[in-house]
Amino acid sequence: MDLVLTGVEIYTPWEVIRPATLEVRDGRIHRIREGRSPKGEDLVGALVVPGFVDLHIHGYRGFDTNSGDPEALLSLAEVLARFGVTAFLPTAVTAPREGLLRAAEAVAEAIRAQGDRPRGARVLGLHLEGPYINPGKAGAQNRDFIREPDWEEFLSIWKASGGNIRAITVAPELPGALPFIAKASELGVTVSIGHTEATYEQAEAAIRAGARRATHLFNAMPRVHHRDPGAAVACLLASEVVAELIADLVHVSAPMLRLAWRVAGPERISLVTDAIPAGGLPDGSYELGGLPVEVKDGVARLGNGALAGSTLTMDRAVRNMVSIGVPLREALAMATAVPARADHRWDLGILAPGARADFLVLDRELHVQRLYIGGERVL
Ligand SMILES: [Zn+2]
Repeated sequence: MDLVLTGVEIYTPWEVIRPATLEVRDGRIHRIREGRSPKGEDLVGALVVPGFVDLHIHGYRGFDTNSGDPEALLSLAEVLARFGVTAFLPTAVTAPREGLLRAAEAVAEAIRAQGDRPRGARVLGLHLEGPYINPGKAGAQNRDFIREPDWEEFLSIWKASGGNIRAITVAPELPGALPFIAKASELGVTVSIGHTEATYEQAEAAIRAGARRATHLFNAMPRVHHRDPGAAVACLLASEVVAELIADLVHVSAPMLRLAWRVAGPERISLVTDAIPAGGLPDGSYELGGLPVEVKDGVARLGNGALAGSTLTMDRAVRNMVSIGVPLREALAMATAVPARADHRWDLGILAPGARADFLVLDRELHVQRLYIGGERVL
């Protein structure tokens, strides 16, 4: 056996096993069993949980997913590991075609460079946040580059990514959006409803066309109204849709987080950071997609006051959910198994025989003590 950890409390995340022994062989979980083992390293009650999977992140500590630089993505992968992330979707904001082509090539190159032995979080592929979104709900996206769905352009970016576009955020009410959603879904790209003014009915039509995710539910969507429920309610009610939530307690209030969790969760809620390159850096002036961003007390805003992504980390998102009353098991699922499944990664985000040995050791306050990727200790 390559690695045996014992005396731990395992969250698979759906099940809790304690005391438990975890055995790793050839980079994968070999066995999980109840009880202690005299052979393993005894971690005396520490928590062992799957590594976090972030489906929506633009950067951190200065590393930018729009930079078109594979080295920046590899560095970002190492930085994110410190916050418990073992896999992520670099997410490109709306940009001119050239910029998106470069971002796509960089993701393909980073995936190649990581191979089977990544030194940081696994780069799963690209999430394109736009450019086919509603300028009326641009949020922190640069309106100059927002456009209508263009299948030929999308295909060129998809090719540049080596087929590694995993998700695209689209506003379903745009002209041509529904056939675009159907074609992208058929290609294996998950379509996420977001940056949208879609009505309830328009969002339902998008789900019928194949959309399976919601991009930062409630943010950059019509407000929920009891006679005009809008896209957010359509996504919450549709059993096929996994909804992203930015649980920094700034983007969405605690009662609305609880509402989403009670309606859809934990099986259909994916915690995301939507973190930006200014995350993890001191307060000050930065840039996002060519727009000036001001970070104050860790909250990033444009000049007009709109929230501009977050400075959140996945470990904090989990702690925040627990702090508002969500059971740990469910908060962990929303950061691990659910996002992995939403990206069709069946051997990630879960601790079970055969799954990748990507996992964390947490203390009782849910701070990351250790991180393993493919059974190798990275942190
Ligand atoms: Zn974003």
